Amino acid sequence: MRLTHQDINLRLEHPFKISRGTQLVASNVLVHVEHDGIFGVGEAAPSTYYGEDQATVHAALNILEPALGDDPFALEAILERFDATIGGHGAAKAAIDIALHDWVGKRLALPVWRLFGLSAEAAPQTSFTIGIDTPEKMAEKAASARNFPILKVKVGTPNDRENLAAIRHVSDARIRVDANAAWTPKEAIAALRSLEEFRLEFVEQPVAAGDLDGLRFVRENVGIPVICDESCVVSSDIPKVAGKVDGINIKLVKCGGLRRAMHMIRTAKAHGLLVMMGCMIESGILITAASHLSPLLDFADLDGNLLLAEDPYPGVVVNNGWLRLPSGPGLGVGSR
Ligand code: MG
Repeated sequence: MRLTHQDINLRLEHPFKISRGTQLVASNVLVHVEHDGIFGVGEAAPSTYYGEDQATVHAALNILEPALGDDPFALEAILERFDATIGGHGAAKAAIDIALHDWVGKRLALPVWRLFGLSAEAAPQTSFTIGIDTPEKMAEKAASARNFPILKVKVGTPNDRENLAAIRHVSDARIRVDANAAWTPKEAIAALRSLEEFRLEFVEQPVAAGDLDGLRFVRENVGIPVICDESCVVSSDIPKVAGKVDGINIKLVKCGGLRRAMHMIRTAKAHGLLVMMGCMIESGILITAASHLSPLLDFADLDGNLLLAEDPYPGVVVNNGWLRLPSGPGLGVGSR
């Protein structure tokens, strides 16, 4: 198999602010795996929070390339060789895993959701994310997202109440919030109680990633489910958070791709946890890849491509929030 990779810098339509910073461009990596004249496409959306960027992705891909072998169907063996070659580097590994699934789907003329034995009709609605801004701007974004019955609002600022009030004033959507680890447990409980009147669906990652007892303390003291994201990266994290949270947010670039995500979904369900899949700011390649597993989810937050000025690789279509999975072979992603 032949591996090629190049930077893709995706410009956002608006600056995207969360509790720990603001993003203007998603500096991602486009990956192709070629074998027998068929090209599989994948994408890495590295996050410096998890120790990756474009340079580490290219370096990891170069290290992994000799472990690819010559059989794209041998996915389990390939991923085992990858993990034996280099630990971590979930975004780089995810890019290859996704390209291999695209390759296999194209070879067999089947969409990825069928390779996993799923039904496209069971795909859920995704939320649309509102980044942190002034109350007026956040309300404006919520109003213009009226085709999305579910909003995910970023919180963890001194103005959360004003922001949520402004959004609630213009929107009847289901609203979930994500604090991206901004609060101490006591702050989280106070903040969430002060937001109760806005009828929140759940809270994502209220406290620091390593504060698992803090997650449990928050969960015991607020009336809404607690989902962890930064606290749960790979499947071995699941037993550690079980009993402390209501659910986990899986991301392909954290865990290393579709097969690892499938394993996490099953492991989480075995622990009685709710399962959400989320995303970084990414093109239709990664968003569509995650969407192929979405029929298995309790909550989908797969909107990273919708925050771009333009998505160069459109695939999954969103209609009133519903994820409409492609029926073409592989990922079903095109290019503009
Ligand atoms: Mg999150």
